[in-house]
Amino acid sequence: MLDEAENLFTVTDLKQYMYCPRIFYYHACLPQIRPVTYNIHAGINAHEVEEQRAKRRSLRMYGEIDGERSFDVAVQAPTLGLSGHIDEVVDTGAELIPVDYKLANKAAFHFKVQLAAYALLLEATQIVIVRRGFLYLIPLRRAEEVRITPRLRRIVREALEAMHLIQETEHMPGPTEWRRRCSDCEFRRFCNDV
Ligand code: SF4
Repeated sequence: MLDEAENLFTVTDLKQYMYCPRIFYYHACLPQIRPVTYNIHAGINAHEVEEQRAKRRSLRMYGEIDGERSFDVAVQAPTLGLSGHIDEVVDTGAELIPVDYKLANKAAFHFKVQLAAYALLLEATQIVIVRRGFLYLIPLRRAEEVRITPRLRRIVREALEAMHLIQETEHMPGPTEWRRRCSDCEFRRFCNDV
């Protein structure tokens, strides 16, 4: 899902790389074999419905926060080589807080990295420090706060470097260490070594 107009990676590319580097490889280097699965459609539909719900939802869902909310915020930072759409951004006046809606029951690590990428994008475009964000878990109707730590920031930058290398060399990375992810992966039939 490269942002071809600007030759930037998208945050979705980054999330896929964190989930399994090989999924990113298939998208970036072999786009013609990209299947579209039920899971992808379900995720897109859930996001559209959730944005409507979120507009009706109280900010109290995120704790003691008061501020102005914006939805589906486009962000782009050529300095990072990255672009994305943030489901929601809360501007309290003192800080910007990105919120990402997830069709998931837990705040998985690759979701936290994705949120950190949104934080870096906001910092690059708005000249602010973003200290935290929220993952809103749609099935649980619960928001989980994520601190944007130096470690998460470093992981985002290292992942972007590795993604550039894969794209330039077209070298297929190894499979994910978490082989349970392979069982319902849309690319399962292309990976003969898992
Ligand atoms: S089948 Fe496994 S190794 Fe292959 S792309 Fe999917 S998650 Fe990665």
